[in-house]
Order: sequence, then structure tokens, then C-alpha cells
Amino acid sequence: MTMTPLIFVTGGVVSSLGKGISAASLAAVLEARGLRVTMMKLDPYINVDPGTMSPFQHGEVYVTDDGAETDLDLGHYERFVNVRLSGKNSITAGKIYERVIRKERRGDYLGATVQVIPHITDEIKRCIDTATQGYDVALVEIGGTVGDIESLPFLEAIRQIRTERGPDKALFMHLTLVPYIAAAGELKTKPTQHSVKELRSIGIQPDVLLCRSEQPLPDSERRKIALFTNVSEKAVISVVDLDNIYKIPMWQHLQGLDAIVLERLRLEGKAAAVADLSEWEAVVDATEYPIDEVTIAVVGKYVDHKDAYKSVAEALRHGGIRQRTRVNLKWVESQDVERDGAAEVLAGVDGVLVPGGFGDRGFEGKVLTSQHAREVGLPYLGICYGMQAAVVDVARNMAGLEGANSTENDRKTPHPVIGLITEWRTQAGEVQRRSEESDLGGTMRLGLQEQRLKPGTKARAIYGQDVVAERHRHRYEFNNRYRTQLEDAGLVISAKSMDDLLVEMVELADHPWFIACQAHPEFQSTPRGGHPLFIGFVRAARERKAGGKLLKEATA
Ligand code: GLN
Repeated sequence: MTMTPLIFVTGGVVSSLGKGISAASLAAVLEARGLRVTMMKLDPYINVDPGTMSPFQHGEVYVTDDGAETDLDLGHYERFVNVRLSGKNSITAGKIYERVIRKERRGDYLGATVQVIPHITDEIKRCIDTATQGYDVALVEIGGTVGDIESLPFLEAIRQIRTERGPDKALFMHLTLVPYIAAAGELKTKPTQHSVKELRSIGIQPDVLLCRSEQPLPDSERRKIALFTNVSEKAVISVVDLDNIYKIPMWQHLQGLDAIVLERLRLEGKAAAVADLSEWEAVVDATEYPIDEVTIAVVGKYVDHKDAYKSVAEALRHGGIRQRTRVNLKWVESQDVERDGAAEVLAGVDGVLVPGGFGDRGFEGKVLTSQHAREVGLPYLGICYGMQAAVVDVARNMAGLEGANSTENDRKTPHPVIGLITEWRTQAGEVQRRSEESDLGGTMRLGLQEQRLKPGTKARAIYGQDVVAERHRHRYEFNNRYRTQLEDAGLVISAKSMDDLLVEMVELADHPWFIACQAHPEFQSTPRGGHPLFIGFVRAARERKAGGKLLKEATA
């Protein structure tokens, strides 16, 4: 087995410094130097995967092609790097322990006392190897903050890897905070010193420090940090707050980060001499110099916690980037729509997006949002629960099915237009079964599945393809018993699963732009490419703003 050079990314001082984005940006720069890069995340919590974690606490659950429910940092990875990740790239302590315990029960350890070292650490190392094999270089982010009890087994595992493989196969990059204390008028390096001391006490000497601060770090402070932490001065990198995350690859490159990393890992021979960051420059240029701007309302239930809709927000921005349009987001709590009415809450917006969600709180507000958008010709993009809300709206208000609902919200509804399907076939051909009593964890229709678009529909025109694949994460489905009734009432079914059994997309023919999909297209949107549905939606919002005039294609 060849050993892929690994860059371990840890964080210190406080959480939320943007470790995932820093790691992803460096990966983008290394990719721009012609290397094949992959990434993975090791999370210290005991949940087997983030699928059952509240978006309030942990932000969005990001779904990969293979249907793994992963940490939202994997979303950053896929947006920054041209790589398709899978469940292998998102490992939690829970997953590691689950595996080790299963082996122990099977008797694989032949009677040994099963311990954190070596059994847990060996399992961690195995997972790292499996996920990173076959690439020129891999970035491995360790969740949490150095000093947490939980992350110790992971830090121990990466310490061992460095000792076993040597410094040109494993590099430690540590992200810290250098706060500015206004009262003293000074940047403070002490927290960074302490955080590195903590790392060194467990045997890890960082090679590179990324020092996050509001202002660029003066040379005097860099020198001081280098001296106290035993990191070479040029490897103390200043990370300033930038207004646009897609500028970070350029900033890191300017600071010479890729050069340092490539030198340490002896990858200069393999990498291109110059980094081709032109695509990233184009992304930033389109954001900095827009020719148009629109306001999109996002009607959801976790709107105070914006990380809960990370990929949706990014995909909307990407849709704008492709046409040099700034997309302003207006976060709307769906219960506010219930209380104040959609017309009032959505006044002045150019389009509305209803994202995925679970449970009955706020669902009626989403149905009202759909109704309003439908009636006044406001561009509407419904995603997952947002499609289900639209179907309920059409059933109640166009097909006259009083009390129509999803059985998720009303088990006794007279018209279960959205219901739990109990059996279906996956992309791989295996039959999956569910019931109301199934566990919540891992019981959803998940991952990339193909669907066939109906000729002549808006969706077909937007995608420009007959068959597309999108990622899913839901339990409930359009109830086929209502297909004809709803079609007769004016709902167009624009996509179905390949076996024709599941409704994947719906739209309205006599509306400027009303499209809703059961899958989550936001997970496949990238700043460099954008996603057809989001690009189309933003264009429709621009057209509405321009008074319904058709806009000529604007290029990014
Ligand atoms: N709650 C709905 C379902 O489970 C929608 C899920 C979602 O929006 N991701 O089907």
C-alpha cells in the first residue's frame, strides 16, 4: 500500500475559527497546483453519524453521493475541491467505537483486553488509510478544539502516524486565534502559545500555524509566535477575516502556504510550478463586481441558526455568481408567515425558497408560502419539505382536497397526499423497508438516485438532460394515489424515479417559475459550476425584478 502524504488540521483556543474552510481552501490551492487531493473529517463526538443531530446544535447534515449523513464541513470540501466524498470521509468517535466493539464481540481480538491504545487508535489509522489511499495528498481535519478530552484518541492516532511514517508523510497544521484587545490596542499571542503548548504536551509539534486575526499579523508578532512555539517564522501564517470565503485560496497562496506544505511533504516534484487559481479569481470577480442583485426569502424553521441551511445559502450564491448577480438572503421564520401572512412577510422579495425540514412546527407557514408564490407569480423553489408543502397547497387549494396533508404532520388526514412509503428499491437494486416504528437514525431514503425528466417541462429545459441524479434525504413521498387528481388540477409532474414509482419533481405550467423537487440539489452546487436549478431560479428572480422582461444570458 502506498502511503498518501497527510496534512492534519487541528484547531485551538476556541471553536468556529473556520478550520473546515481553511483546510478546504488549502486543498483547493493544492489542486490548483495539479495535485489529486482528497479530504476527510474526524469528529470526536459519540454519535455514529450527524444524521440525528439537531441542526440547531450542529448545523446542516450534509449528504454525500453514497447517502452518508455527514458533518457540514464535508460540504465545504466538496465546494472547494473537485472530489466526490463518501461515508469513508466522515468518521466519528461513535463510528470507531462501534466498529471496535463489533470486532470485540465477534472475538477478533482473541481475548485481548481492548483498549483505547492500540485498538481505538489502530481503527482510526485504518479509517484514515482507507479514505485517503490513491491520492497525491490528503487533508485530514480533526473536529473540536485541542484540549478537549474527546479528541485525545484522534490526536494520539495522528501522533503515531507521524512517528511511524516520518515528517515528509505527515504534516501538522494548527489553526489558532490571535485576538485584538481593544482596551490595550494590541494583538495577543498568548492564547496561541498556550494552545501549541497543549499540543506539544501530547507529542505533537505543529509544522504550520494558521493565526486567525482581524488584522494581518505584524512581523513582530509572527516572530514572537515562532519563537515561543518552535514553528519556523515563515510557517506562521496570518489568516485575516475576509468578507468572502472564496477569496481564501488566493490569500493562502499569497502567504506562501502551498509552497511551505509542498516543500515539507516533498511534493514539489509532483506539483505544477504555478498555481492556476483563475477559476477562483473568476468566482471572486463575479462576486465583487455584480451587474444585478436580487433578494430571495428562505422560509424555514432553523433560520436563527444559519448553518442549518449552509448548502442552500451557498447554492443560491453560486446561482448568482454564474450570472454576476448578488443574491441577498432574507431569512424568514415560517411561523411568522402563519402569524402575519405571506403577503406581508414576503413583500419586496424577488423569489422564495422553501428548504428541507422535519416535523410539524412551521409546516403550515410553508404551505402558505407556496400558495402565495403560486397565486402572485413569485418564483418558487421548493426543496424536499418545500416540495411536499407545495403538493399539499396544490391539493388543498387547486384540487379542492380539504384537509390534505403529509402524514408526517397529520396521521389521520383525509387526503394523505404525502405519505410514508414502506418499501422501495435503491439505486443498487436492494429492497429497503420502513415503518412508522423504524429507528430515526439511518432510516431515510438517502443518497444519489437517478430520475427521468419529462420532455417539454421547465425542469427538463433547465437541466438540459433526460436523466439526472440528485441526492436524497427524506422519509415521506408523494402519494401515487393522488397523481391523476393533482395532475388534473394543474400540477405538472416533471420528474420521476427511473422505475416510475416515485415523484421526484413537480412544477406549474402557468406560472413564471414554480419548481419543487424531492431531492436536495444544493448538495451538488459548487461556486465554480453552480447548479442548473439554482441558476434558473436566480434568473427567474431577476426577470421578476426587471418587470417580467426576459434577460439575455449573462456570463460569469
Ligand atoms: N420531513 C420530510 C420527509 O422526511 C422532508 C425531509 C426533508 O426535507 N429533508 O420526507
